[in-house]
Formats: sequence, structure tokens, C-alpha cells
Amino acid sequence: MNPHSAPRLPVLIIGAGLSGLAAARELGSRNSSVVIFEKARGVGGRLASRRLTDRSGSERSLDSGCTDFAARAPELGEFWSSEREARVLESGEDGRLRAVPAMTALPKKLARGFDVRLGDRVLKLTGSAGAWTLSTETGHTVTGRAVILSCPLPQSLGLLESLLLGAADRTHLESVRYLPEAVLLATASAQATPEQAALEGAHRLGAETAERLLALDEESALHAALRARGAQDPQAAMSGLLGVRLQRWRYSQVVAPLPESHLVVAPGVVVCGDAFLGDRGLEGVERAVLSGQAAARALSGP
Ligand SMILES: Cc1cc2nc3c(=O)[nH]c(=O)nc-3n(C[C@H](O)[C@H](O)[C@H](O)COP(=O)(O)OP(=O)(O)OC[C@H]3O[C@@H](n4cnc5c(N)ncnc54)[C@H](O)[C@@H]3O)c2cc1C
Repeated sequence: MNPHSAPRLPVLIIGAGLSGLAAARELGSRNSSVVIFEKARGVGGRLASRRLTDRSGSERSLDSGCTDFAARAPELGEFWSSEREARVLESGEDGRLRAVPAMTALPKKLARGFDVRLGDRVLKLTGSAGAWTLSTETGHTVTGRAVILSCPLPQSLGLLESLLLGAADRTHLESVRYLPEAVLLATASAQATPEQAALEGAHRLGAETAERLLALDEESALHAALRARGAQDPQAAMSGLLGVRLQRWRYSQVVAPLPESHLVVAPGVVVCGDAFLGDRGLEGVERAVLSGQAAARALSGP
């Protein structure tokens, strides 16, 4: 076979959060083909929403992760403006950006046109320079010329086990800590008591409570979350709610992100995400986008 006619292998991206999607967009703009693997049923990672029935009988989307973010990085000005023009983002009175109708609108828009394999968790990464293979939970194996890992670092580190990651890189990546978070979502019925009605909306419970809730089974965690929001009797509180969900995040926000924009851990294997660009005074969303773009550039040149 003429080697020049062989199709170029794609870049494989693990994670369809904002960093993975930003990397995909950057590579796509350079005509690199990309395949994205996402363990969840939808794109967005920590930009997530859940649909609950409200008292009018219609479905209401509540954000269960990040609800808005600051736009501070000058190099992302155009990126955010184009999403504002497309009416995917709007600016609040506080100058912070939020996606409409829910935060997932942003990742859904960024993922458009890409080959995203949803509900397919990557279990293993093997190979060597130029040919890296991912094995997934659904039994697929896919080979690419390079791999971008965009998961929270403890999850990326698990996948790098088989690569004999250098000890210095491992220690460096392991040094990053994340705060947990829990978000209680509820819609109240028309008959709700004032105590039950006060539970309506999306409520962040904080890292300390989240740590406790992560150790509990689903039902006990939900009851504990309702108590944390002031419900004396969780079972009684639920009788006045039309919908109630608890989202627990083991990795919510990074405590002290690393200063660099990404890390190349083997030829063609790059780690990125909101754990990077810690010296810029940016929030997680902007760090994730910039880090994803930097990871893509590391593979395709400036
Ligand atoms: C409650 C909450 C509030 C927040 N508030 C703010 C805020 O005010 N401002 C701000 O800027 N940021 C905020 N953030 C943080 C912000 O959401 C994150 O910094 C950003 O979304 C991270 O994007 P990411 O792509 O780096 O990671 P993620 O969004 O975590 O994406 C990683 C993706 O990888 C997937 N994945 C993991 N392992 C695998 C695997 N083995 N195979 C396939 N897929 C895998 C995950 O499912 C996930 O979709 C908040 C986050 C939370 C949870």
C-alpha cells in the first residue's frame, strides 16, 4: 500500500469536559481527526444539569455542577464572544458568564460535529510513540497517533499506570488536590409547606458536608443532604417535593493548580484540564479551556 494514501490516525481524547472539547476544537481547526471518549451519558463533565418536573408539570433543568464562571483570560475573549453571539452564553449583571438555558448548552455546542463516544469509559492505555491504543468498558479498542487525557488528575493517573509514568511526573501530578462538593436539587409541589418550598432550587452543600456524603449510600446521602438544608424529617420533606436529586462530586474544584498549561508524559501523550495554569488567577472553566487548547497545540505545533 502506498504509505502516502494511508489515513492518518486520529488523536484520541479521554473526557468530554471543557478541556477535552477545547482540545478537540483546536485540533479540528488544524484538520486533525479526533475521537472523544466520555464515560458519562452526556458531554460537559462538571458542567452538568438534571431535569426535574416542576409544579407547572413541565421539565426544568437545574445545574448540578458549575453554574457560572468569570471571563478573565484575554486570549479567550473571542472564544466567549462567539458563544455569546450564538446565544449559548449570556453575561450576568455581575459580569459572569452562564450558558442558556442550562450550563450543558455550552459543552453541547462545543461537541457539535465531533465523533464523541458517550457512555464508554476508557479502562486502559497502551502502546508507544505514534500508535497508542485505548481499551474501553464496552470492549472497543481504538488506536490513535496521540492521546489527550483531560480527566481530573486522579482519574488520568489511573489510566497512565500501564505507561510506566516517570516518578517525577507521577509525584508532580499526584500533588494536586481537589475539593469535593455536593449539590442538592429540588422542585417543590404547589402543596409544599414553607419548609419544603425552601428546598426548591440548586443548593451547594460545601466540601465538608460533601466529604461525609461521599461515604454514604445513595438514599442515606440524600437524607443527610436534606437534613443539611434544614429538613428535620427528610421523608416528610420529600412528600412536598416533585423532584429531588443529589449530585456528589469527588473532584469539584482544584485547590492549588499546577503552574504549567499541560504535561507531556510520553511522546504523544498529554495530560490537561483545570488542574493546570494555576498562576494566572483564573477560575476552573477558563483554566480547563486554555489547558485543552495548549495540549492540542503541543501535539500539532503552534
Ligand atoms: C459545583 C461546582 C461548581 C463550580 N463552580 C465553578 C465556578 O464558579 N467557576 C469556574 O470557573 N469553575 C467552576 N467549577 C469548576 C469547573 O466546572 C471545572 O473547572 C471545569 O468544568 C473542568 O473541566 P475539565 O474538562 O478539566 O474536567 P471535567 O469537567 O471533570 O471533565 C472530565 C471528563 O472526563 C470524563 N472521564 C473521566 N474518566 C474517564 C474515563 N476513564 N473514560 C472516559 N471519560 C472519562 C468525565 O466523565 C468528565 O466528563 C465548578 C465545579 C463544580 C462541580
